[in-house]
Amino acid sequence: MLHIGCHLSSSDGFEAMGKTALRIGANTFQFFTRNPRGSKAKEIDPQDAAALVHLLKEHHFAPIIAHAPYTLNPASADPKTREFALLTMQDDLQRMEYVPGNLYNFHPGSHVGQGTEKGIELICWLLNEILTSKQQTTVLLETMSGKGSEIGRTFEELAEILSRVKQNDKMGVCLDTCHIHDAGYSLAKLDNVLTEFDKKIGLSRLKAVHLNDSLNPLGAHKDRHAVIGGGQIGTEILASVINHPALKELPFCLETPNDLEGYAREISLLKKLYHA
Ligand code: FE
Ligand code: FE
Ligand code: ZN
Repeated sequence: MLHIGCHLSSSDGFEAMGKTALRIGANTFQFFTRNPRGSKAKEIDPQDAAALVHLLKEHHFAPIIAHAPYTLNPASADPKTREFALLTMQDDLQRMEYVPGNLYNFHPGSHVGQGTEKGIELICWLLNEILTSKQQTTVLLETMSGKGSEIGRTFEELAEILSRVKQNDKMGVCLDTCHIHDAGYSLAKLDNVLTEFDKKIGLSRLKAVHLNDSLNPLGAHKDRHAVIGGGQIGTEILASVINHPALKELPFCLETPNDLEGYAREISLLKKLYHA
């Protein structure tokens, strides 16, 4: 069965997101844990969280994805910025325990001139501080486009991070189709890309896919998402992604420039393109 959803606003709480997802034909979704600036999150309402847990179970949702604020930088040169990332992610993970068994995705960070090696060291240090053996959330490294000094543009970099994290049984990877296209991995040769992913990282680490078209050409290192079929990847190749035997059971999440109606249309299009 296709598990497909999109990014939703969390402003009305947990259960409201589940209901919105149902209304647009989704059976997974993603949301920001707090506003992108990373400021204080709203108090958790345990009843609201429990209502969502119930809804997800009742409607056979795939795991949902909480996305860390994208402004956090665990690889910053500034200790205060790193501490802010650490405290925010730690708090997010504690809150995720109210909706156990789901995913928490973050952008590994930008080394801002310190070099990839130093950046990876800082990211691993942070992860080793915040992951616990008891947590019920899987933390995902997102594949990045490589704009600026972003870490995570190659499978090697992600593999290196995973290898140095002690609790890496609590970790996985989220593959963003726009980002890997912009990083230079050609989705037209999906088999080759997944073979390389398997060799470097291991396909069992792959827990979710961000399904986006890209405004820019292969290897552009830009990260500008396009609607499905409105970019340089195209509908046919994105359909091959949701149908690939190694991917087809994963949760797919749209982060395309759309309102809810647009998302509903893309979800219904992808359902038509999916071979059960
Ligand atoms: Fe992201
Ligand atoms: Fe993404
Ligand atoms: Zn992006």
